[in-house]
Amino acid sequence: MKLKIVQAGDPVLRQKSRELSKEEILSAPIQQLIKLMKETMHDAPGVGLAAPQIGESLQLIVIEDKPEYSQMLTTKQVENREREPVPFHVIINPKITLDQNSTVEFYEGCLSVAGYVGLVRRALNVKVECLNEDAKPVTIHAKGWYARILQHEVDHLHGNLCIDHMALTTLTTLENYNKYWKDKAP
Ligand code: ZN
Repeated sequence: MKLKIVQAGDPVLRQKSRELSKEEILSAPIQQLIKLMKETMHDAPGVGLAAPQIGESLQLIVIEDKPEYSQMLTTKQVENREREPVPFHVIINPKITLDQNSTVEFYEGCLSVAGYVGLVRRALNVKVECLNEDAKPVTIHAKGWYARILQHEVDHLHGNLCIDHMALTTLTTLENYNKYWKDKAP
């Protein structure tokens, strides 16, 4: 079963979402929500999904970057993006720290801004402190594309969208991205 992904303009995407208690995380409704968010992310397909995107204003994210997603890119594009597969995992109540010393710009899109991408500058390295689906504390040190996914998804929990950071003159439909920009280095 999959959930409906809400689109830009839905007020829930601009709200600050609330933290989950340990009891809530371990409860059947939240465990079920995690399962449904995983299925919804796979179906989209996407590499991350935040609870506000399915209409729940909660600090809950699922992430998975499958190896086959990188097969749509050239070896050079995978290298440039520092993109490596990331297994499925759950992030709850995250605190993110950005290393602003090095940033990179790549085309980025969002399941809630369907059909469009544009250049977004992001930190190359981040640290995320959060809870997992067992309500256990986890510290993640991420770089490259995984760091970008984390920044994008944590933004959703604070009511921010990638278009807020986008160089808007680079906004393109996916169709035109594939036609004109896909093979150009930003
Ligand atoms: Zn998004």
